Amino acid sequence: MKELDLIVPNPTGLHARPAKVFVNTAKKFKADIRVQHGAKTVNAKSVISVLTLGVETGGQIRLVVDGPDEDEALATLKEAVESGLGDELSHGAPVADKTNGRPAAPQVGLDGRMLKGIPGAGGIAIGPLYQYRPATVEVASGAAASPAEEQARLQTAIAAARTELTTLHQQVQQRIGAEEAAIFEAHLAILDDPDLFAAASDAINSGQNAGQGWQAAVESTAAALAKVKDELLAARAVDIRDVGQRVLRALTGAAAAGPALPDDPIILIAADLTPSDTVTLDPNRVLGFCTAAGGANGHTAILARALGLPAIVGAGEAVLTLDNSTPAILNGDTGTLTLSPTEPELAQASASQQAQRQRGAAQLAAAQEPAITTDGHRVEVVANIGNLAEARQALQFGAEGVGLLRTEFLFLERDTPPTEDEQFEVYRDIALALAGQPVIIRTLDIGGDKPLPYLTLPAEENPFLGQRGIRLCLARPDLLRTQLRAILRAAAFGPLRIMFPMVTTLEDWRAARQMVTEIRAELNAPAVEVGIMVEVPAAALLAPAFAVEVDFFSIGTNDLTQYTLAMDRTNPAVAGQADGLNPAVLHLIERTVQASHAAGKWTGVCGELAANPQAVPILVGLGVDELSASVPAVPAVKAQVRELALTAAKSVASQALACATAAEVHRVTGTTPP
Ligand code: PEP
Ligand code: MG
Repeated sequence: MKELDLIVPNPTGLHARPAKVFVNTAKKFKADIRVQHGAKTVNAKSVISVLTLGVETGGQIRLVVDGPDEDEALATLKEAVESGLGDELSHGAPVADKTNGRPAAPQVGLDGRMLKGIPGAGGIAIGPLYQYRPATVEVASGAAASPAEEQARLQTAIAAARTELTTLHQQVQQRIGAEEAAIFEAHLAILDDPDLFAAASDAINSGQNAGQGWQAAVESTAAALAKVKDELLAARAVDIRDVGQRVLRALTGAAAAGPALPDDPIILIAADLTPSDTVTLDPNRVLGFCTAAGGANGHTAILARALGLPAIVGAGEAVLTLDNSTPAILNGDTGTLTLSPTEPELAQASASQQAQRQRGAAQLAAAQEPAITTDGHRVEVVANIGNLAEARQALQFGAEGVGLLRTEFLFLERDTPPTEDEQFEVYRDIALALAGQPVIIRTLDIGGDKPLPYLTLPAEENPFLGQRGIRLCLARPDLLRTQLRAILRAAAFGPLRIMFPMVTTLEDWRAARQMVTEIRAELNAPAVEVGIMVEVPAAALLAPAFAVEVDFFSIGTNDLTQYTLAMDRTNPAVAGQADGLNPAVLHLIERTVQASHAAGKWTGVCGELAANPQAVPILVGLGVDELSASVPAVPAVKAQVRELALTAAKSVASQALACATAAEVHRVTGTTPP
């Protein structure tokens, strides 16, 4: 038996998604694995049990591992926990609200006509209130058949719920995005949770019918979770009840979920909404919603933001007493619900609503126009994508190509690397979807905060400084060869470009480029542009030497910031100060751009900074040729470039370079630091 103490670095603790990664990693091993936190010890292979620990950020857990593969299990789990369990921690993990799970007491203003909750999703809705009381499935208390028959009924219902959730997951992935769809992956994990099933089985064996047994197991688990101090984890009780109801519906043949609503559009009020309810809300009937419970980081709020539905959460029980049909203004930016608004209040709200809509619609309508500054300087605006669905959306949102395809997404969530043919098909389909626009395919960027369990890499003390990105691929040329063959075969279907991540030395670059040259000759493939990510300060400092040999640079400001400032992007203690507008980072960007232009090459930025409204003028002023942003951000980035004058942008950029601190840069741009 082996033990190990670890600290959970995720800013939101061991919440649903990292817990799922943790449990899936644990499940790969034969050994019995227990996790201890405070006085409680649970099975590491049960998501729900792990969630009930309520581990907050910086919390300590003890792993107790017993079995034939205990050493490997311990090393793998250590690495997985320390590298963030798949959380992109520095990518603006949502800021936890301060209410710690309890609905905020509504602040009542305007003579009792204004209720205040937590801003859940931006935007303004004006309309009558409608109280939604979800119908819960009643469990019959009738006599049970034999335990074996009741177990079989439960298994069948769980299988039906699994099919529904798998379909929902696919639909949400296509309609909204992979990140939001992950909520339903978490639901699938709950459905397959061994401890939940064991509790239901025990109840059935003691004489309850399948519905009663399942209901009892779900309720006691949800109640245990709801008690956890942490807001995010307490919110998971909603997910467990949501999954519980889905199985009960399958057991009883009750109609599918989804609020039954009046025909005329309303502002929906509810005690809480499940993620399943939220994705099935019809935007033609629901103008916005306000829930008594919930927090800004709950899945319901995340989905509302992705759906563009104004929302207030955590508004307190008082909202449940409001009368149906009361006219109201819901402001999702401020978290206020104004009841029976006066004429001037209505006029002001509709003016702001109008302005917001016009801005969004104008940006989208103009999305296909090029991004040219008022004084005639063009900036390419392209998209960061992770899969084919996003490639299809990219063009609709005005992207002029793909600036970064993160291919590691093809390698995650599976047990073996994708084959050459599998990869070829994805790259080919993405090239075809982009209809002749260029696509930069980044080769596998594994390591650092993106572990790949099936590669069984040695655990590293400092994975961000270890075998990451191109270093790993050069150490595992089989992986890189397969990927390069797939890309070069797909290059016959559209202008693909190859980009290597984490390049630090000229030797790395030359070895990688050599492989491209050899494989291209082998396949008689078309010529492709080959470039590097500039995300390590060494690459920026040596940019003049690299610029002679590469076709282009793309600056990965997420990593360039962490490596320049020596601030681990996954360590919450420092991630907050890891500001890409720090002048040290800006000097490296300037150096890179200058070097590329001197050699007749071009430079893009594909880190988060490219979509940051404070950074866009500086990047344009520094001479960055291409900005690559997440798909939904593309129209706004293009709109911002069109409002800029290059001369003004250059002046802001040179003022920023003259600053000594990030705070001074923010003053120059007229904004406050994050
Ligand atoms: C970056 O580092 O800025 C980048 C775009 O790559 P990733 O975030 O995938 O490391
Ligand atoms: Mg990077």
